[in-house]
Amino acid sequence: MRAIRRFTVRPVLPEVLKPLGDLARNLRWCWNTDTQDLFRSVDPDLWESSGHDPVKLLSDVSVERLDTLSSDKRFLKNLRVVQADLADYTSGDLWYAGFAAEHPEAPAGIAYFSPEFGITEVLPQYSGGLGILAGDHLKTASDLGVPIIGVGLLYRQGYFRQSLNAAGWQQETYPLLDPNALPLTLLHNDDGSPVTVEVDLGGGRVLAAQVWLAAVGRVPLLLLDSDVERNAGPERETTDRLYGGGTEHRLAQETLLGIGGVRAVRAYCKITGTPVPEVYHTNEGHAGFQGLERIREQVVAGVDFDTALETARAGTVFTTHTPVPAGIDRFPVDLVRHQFADFGLPLERVMALGSEDYDGGDHGVFNMAVMGFRLGQRANGVSLLHGEVSRDMFQGLWRSFDTSEVPITSITNGVHHLTWVHRDLLALLEAPTGSTSDSVIDGYDWNGLVDVDDKTIWNLKRTMRTELIAFTRKRLAESSAHRGLSTDWVSGVLDPDTITFGFARRVPSYKRLTLMLREPERLKALLTSKKRPIQIVIAGKSHPADEGGKALIQQMVQFADEHDVRNRIVFLPDYDIGMAKPLYPGCDVWMNNPLRPYEACGTSGMKAALNGAANLSILDGWWDEWYDPAFGWEIPSAEGVEGDQRDDLEAKSLYEIIENEIVPRFYDRDSHGYPKRWIQMIRETVAGLGPKVLASRMVRDYVTHLYTPSAASSRSLAAETGGPEALAEWKRKVRDAWGDVVVDHVQSLDGDQVEVGTGIHVSALVRLGSLDPSDVEVQLVTGRVGSDDQLREPRITPFPEGADVDGGLRRYEGTVQARRAGSIGYTVRVVPHHPLLVSTAEMGLAAVPSGLSSPPSA
Ligand SMILES: *Cc1c(COP(=O)(O)O)cnc(C)c1O
Repeated sequence: MRAIRRFTVRPVLPEVLKPLGDLARNLRWCWNTDTQDLFRSVDPDLWESSGHDPVKLLSDVSVERLDTLSSDKRFLKNLRVVQADLADYTSGDLWYAGFAAEHPEAPAGIAYFSPEFGITEVLPQYSGGLGILAGDHLKTASDLGVPIIGVGLLYRQGYFRQSLNAAGWQQETYPLLDPNALPLTLLHNDDGSPVTVEVDLGGGRVLAAQVWLAAVGRVPLLLLDSDVERNAGPERETTDRLYGGGTEHRLAQETLLGIGGVRAVRAYCKITGTPVPEVYHTNEGHAGFQGLERIREQVVAGVDFDTALETARAGTVFTTHTPVPAGIDRFPVDLVRHQFADFGLPLERVMALGSEDYDGGDHGVFNMAVMGFRLGQRANGVSLLHGEVSRDMFQGLWRSFDTSEVPITSITNGVHHLTWVHRDLLALLEAPTGSTSDSVIDGYDWNGLVDVDDKTIWNLKRTMRTELIAFTRKRLAESSAHRGLSTDWVSGVLDPDTITFGFARRVPSYKRLTLMLREPERLKALLTSKKRPIQIVIAGKSHPADEGGKALIQQMVQFADEHDVRNRIVFLPDYDIGMAKPLYPGCDVWMNNPLRPYEACGTSGMKAALNGAANLSILDGWWDEWYDPAFGWEIPSAEGVEGDQRDDLEAKSLYEIIENEIVPRFYDRDSHGYPKRWIQMIRETVAGLGPKVLASRMVRDYVTHLYTPSAASSRSLAAETGGPEALAEWKRKVRDAWGDVVVDHVQSLDGDQVEVGTGIHVSALVRLGSLDPSDVEVQLVTGRVGSDDQLREPRITPFPEGADVDGGLRRYEGTVQARRAGSIGYTVRVVPHHPLLVSTAEMGLAAVPSGLSSPPSA
């Protein structure tokens, strides 16, 4: 018989060992090696067999062992030290305290919404990069003392576990999770009853959820769970799986995440006395309904929709994560109408927020990313290149403006070093206390390997490879046995002195898992070379509904099964954080060959680099930004060439670089047997990329460039006379009057030629209709022009205040310096102007000389 539920009998720890329970329930253990070592010392074998899971360890450890530990002086002393360290960590002043002292406008709280969180393998609530990023964001916020509250869902079956069948086809299993066996506590009201939030699913269906609390260091993470008795069967299943089910199921999940999430935050803040967040950060479109709930809260209190929208927008940050159209969340319009029919907001206003009402848009869908931009006054992509691609992709929302003016900025992702860097390498980088060197960040000197000799670095790298090999053999033996294959050969798989390549990530088609198989014989020759072989470790899950992805995995597995190469190339099933941790340090080269520009950022290469691996990658995402020959290699991207031919070309480059550059550099040895140039590359990679790829750089960027300005906007809006209501009223007035705004006549006062360095004088006659001159800015726009007369890289110069002339016109005169020779074009435009607008393009309105003013779009 199959159990339908599990529950866990929690151990009763002896009084002196009680703090172990507290340590297990604060996830800081997963990035604190002293705490991990303490748990290991409870029972080293159990620690291994539990998969490094403290809660499981404590529930399985024998009473005798606990008795022994209760009187083990050394253990108790360690326990006290680790306990005191956590207490210091959770209560001390960290970076944010100083930042907030210098920036009084810094927010008192930030709510961070994400559909997935990848914090540790024992809390499998993530599928890939988006979740890992969210996990690293929370951990880093904790390390820096940033007052964030994470908000997500608790999926009772998490994401799936991957195994392979004999033929190499992906199998999925969904082990049931028992929240009581996870490092979670249920959120309770003051009277001891569990906190329940309810959301309406439309048509009178009510969905209830309880709220689990994960302590991520100092940061609370609230996870909503629909598996409660009062829900009817189908509703109870809402939080069953991450990205599971059909469209309706997804909509119910996202409704719970966004709307239920805000309600959970309210409850949490009230119960714990935590300051209510001023800024709401939506990590990807899935959580976008949180903005609707914050608007509804105000509308219920008597505020009109437009006013509430202004308040919500000012305090919202939206991050878009994908340039792949299929990756954008869209729902059929009818489903969303049904969902929000009785929500308490004017339905047409809700629907308009997600409408693709631009050229080429689909009127049948509600687009969550589009809503994200309309509900967030600030928005960003996740690398410089992705910012650029996103401005282009969503330009339709601001169609009167040049792509470069689209108000989407970028903050490049980063990774949490304490989670991802091998502990022995971190030890080498530890900075002496009080060190003030520029290369010291967060206590580590990223330039520290300069003072470490070749031998030490090379031995450490060999240790890292050896650990990966041990992990690989164990996982491969399990997998081979599961597939019904022999396992006797597994103990000889991989070699600690052979150059090791890694390739692991989700398997959507744009990531091109099998590009390396383009010329199988050529890859075989590399793997089986007698003198200078390479070896490759590969991993990745395909979304269960993606048959194409599964076929790619099978192709890879079947290649790796072949007897002449199976010792040198392995596919490891069930990629997760637990595998990723030994994988990055164990690799010498990290490979990435996405179809440019579909990799928004990518973070696995950053984790590899921090562990001294070189990157071999297409210039996409973060690598496009920070590539340098000192840190690895660029695979030339054959953009413009289509399909198979593009793959052929890029694969050819991949082989050539490996054959001609990578392999020789690795195997060229000096008289002591060390690969001098390779070791130098390790030093330079850690020194050069270290400071850039840190998640602490990323979180500081969010705090400085998005959270704090957003909180400042919220406060200015509230402080403004009339507040958000006045802004909403002003926007209405401007929109209504915009049709009458006309650039009537423009003339240059210089003829057709000017010299570099002299001024271009322009005069414009403008009609403002019912608007006041202070409602607008009149701008001179200059830039290079080609034969199509399009202004490239436009430069914007506001005209000085104009003067009324006859006939309801105003004359503006201005000058701009001609900076370079060549053909320069110019035009004049009028845009709305208000101190609380963040970008010129914000309202989507601009009047240009044709007399055609574009309709509003944002
Ligand atoms: C870092 C990481 C990812 C993201 O990898 P990308 O190459 O950025 O897609 C996915 N899964 C796991 C387990 C990771 O650690």
